[in-house]
Parts: sequence; structure tokens; C-alpha cells
Amino acid sequence: MKNSNKKYVVILGDGMADYPIDELGGKTPLEVAEKPNIDALCAKGELGLVKTVPAGMKPGSDVANLAVLGYSPARYYSGRSPLEALSIGIDLKDTDIAIRCNLVTLSDDEPYENKVMLDYSAGEISSAEAKELIEYVNANLGNDVLSFYNGVSYRHCLVRHNSETGTEFTPPHDISDRRITVYLPKGLYGEEMLSLMKKSYDLLKDHPVNVARVKAGKNPANSIWLWGEGTRPALSPFEDVYGLKGAVISAVDLIKGIGIGAKMKVIEVEGACGTYETNFAGKAESAVKALLEDGCDYVYVHMEAPDECGHQGDLKHKILSVELIDRVVVQYIVEKLREAKVDFSILVAPDHPTPIKLKTHTSDPVPYVLYRSYDEKDNAFKSMTEKNAKASGIYYDDSCDLTAKFIKED
Ligand SMILES: [Zn+2]
Repeated sequence: MKNSNKKYVVILGDGMADYPIDELGGKTPLEVAEKPNIDALCAKGELGLVKTVPAGMKPGSDVANLAVLGYSPARYYSGRSPLEALSIGIDLKDTDIAIRCNLVTLSDDEPYENKVMLDYSAGEISSAEAKELIEYVNANLGNDVLSFYNGVSYRHCLVRHNSETGTEFTPPHDISDRRITVYLPKGLYGEEMLSLMKKSYDLLKDHPVNVARVKAGKNPANSIWLWGEGTRPALSPFEDVYGLKGAVISAVDLIKGIGIGAKMKVIEVEGACGTYETNFAGKAESAVKALLEDGCDYVYVHMEAPDECGHQGDLKHKILSVELIDRVVVQYIVEKLREAKVDFSILVAPDHPTPIKLKTHTSDPVPYVLYRSYDEKDNAFKSMTEKNAKASGIYYDDSCDLTAKFIKED
């Protein structure tokens, strides 16, 4: 049985795991980074491998973070857009379909179907400009069935009420500089969704916001682009499943959305931005405050930085990200919990690898460290690395089993 005085912390280094890198003499960033605090937990805890991306699913951060939080993606994953919708405050009904609505830049001259996807982010348009455009689109195309909601920069949401999934969409970032002809929505609601996109072009192309953007040499947000549909995830509240008051700390929309969906406390940290320049100290302080002052039993501290560096192939800063997580986040949290003399368990893990040489996510199992302050071990493995985790012979094929062990088995 769980003891309600115990505290649980997940330190999630997004994309932290990697492959051997020639430049590092065949070592990985985790092997090279100086991380004495994580390695100390490893030496007195358990090191193993865990599969966070179920076979047949894509290794997205949405899928993998659900898994580490203890929600089986095979059962609970219902699309990325609904998670983002929750994070921008949309109260999705069970019968609503959430669809990602990008503001994009299409070429001018051709008929709509022959246009080219010039920029899937419309020059990373500002949220203020985007709000004006999305509100204008909603005033003209919204109705009882369709509602457009503005989000952040080029990332917005269309909700289709009392509806169902079944439309084939294409992510706009997959078709940069290509003609959109064969990538237009198809299937159920395909025609209706295409008609919205076409009408949005007529509404947006000469909108004052875009006229000013073109004048300033920026890409106009001259069309919406719909993709990534899904339904509200039916996440049981975290407290009902695991008996703990949980909190989530992250700079990333979809992780916050998971927290909201699971009825966890979502803590905003000033300066949290998802890169290696993020406010690591602020995240660590917020985590400790949640546990020691605000009555939380479990905190999920998500750090996007290593993943971001992985996508950019930025080896130096990926290593630095791991080192900052170690000496700013892990060290502080462990110190404060020891000072407070509470029994605590810490799980350190990535959600998925983002190997530098691939610049994208993979589905490989990831190393984890599980440490309990009240049950220290003498682990043969003194450092958290991919190789050691494999050599340990400890392997969880389903990350929910690891979460259950982390939280429930004392
Ligand atoms: Zn990523």
C-alpha cells in the first residue's frame, strides 16, 4: 500500500537517449555528459530498460509521455490535436472532434488545388496577429457545428461538434515546397474540410494583417491547413488510477494537455521555453514547492531541451542539456527532499530517443533509473547509460508496469 507521506518525482529528459556517436568515440551523450547526481541515484537504485512506444505506434512525444505517466497509449491515445486543444483551454466534449488548424503560407497564383506549401508556420506568425485572423475566420466560417479557437503562433484548433473521425489529412510540415494537390483532405468530411481551407484563402489573402506582413517582408498567413484530428482522450484522473495528487511541469502544449486530461495540477513556470536556455531552476523550485508546500505527492518534471537539440543535430547542447538537468534540477530536488526528511522515490527517464544522427524520434527502449531514499541498493551499475541499462538485464516491455512498480510497490 502506498504511504501518503511519500513523494514521487519523475525527471523526464525528452529525447535524452541516443546512439553511439563517432565524434564521441562511439559513446552517447548520456555516457559523455557529467551527471554525478543522476549517477549517484543509479548507483543506489535500479537501472533498466523500458519500452515506452508500443509496437505499431509512432514514437511521438504524446504517445511516449502518456506511457511514462502510466497511461497505456494503445488504450488512451486518441490523437495529438485533442491534447493541444485541452492545453489551450478548450473543454472538448466526448462527441467533439479536435483538428489542428495551422496558419500557413501558400503560393499566390495558381487555383487553390495547385498551390505550393511555402511555409507551414506562416513565418512563425505572432500569436496576436494570428488571433485576429483566426477570429475573422471563425466569424465567417464558424457555426453551430464548427468552432475555430486561437492558440499559439501558427498552431490553432478547429472543433467539429457532434461528429466523427475518418478524414485523411496530411501534416503541412511534411510537404514543404510541394504542390498541395495530392495532399488535400480526403475521405469522410474531406470535401467539407477542403472547402473550409479554400474559403479561408479568400478571407485571408487580403486581410489587413497579411497586407502589413507582406509589406514588412514576412510570409502572409493566407490559408488555414487542417490536419491531425482526434477525440478527447478518455484519461481516468491520475489520482483515481494511482492514488496520488499529481502535478505536471512542462513548457510543451501537449504535455500540459495530458496533465489537464488526467486532471493533474498543471504548473506554469516563468521562462520555461523548451530549449537548453529554459528556466531549469524554476522548474526544480516549482517541483519542490508542489511536493512540500502544495500537497502534491507526485510531480512529473518534463524537460524538452535534449529532444530539441536532437532534432537540430546539436550534439554540444544536447550534452549540456543533460548536464543542466543533472546539476540544476536533480541536485536541487534531491537536496531539498532530503532536507525535508521525507521518503521519496525518483524516476529518471527519457520518453524516447532522439538520436543526433537521425534528428528524429525512434521507438527503441530507453534507460531509466529508479531510486528510493528509504530503500537504497548497491547497484553494480554506477552510471545511467544506454549500454549499462541493456547490460542490467532488467527490461519492461510495457512502461505502465514500471509506473505501477514505481508508485504502488513499496
Ligand atoms: Zn521531438
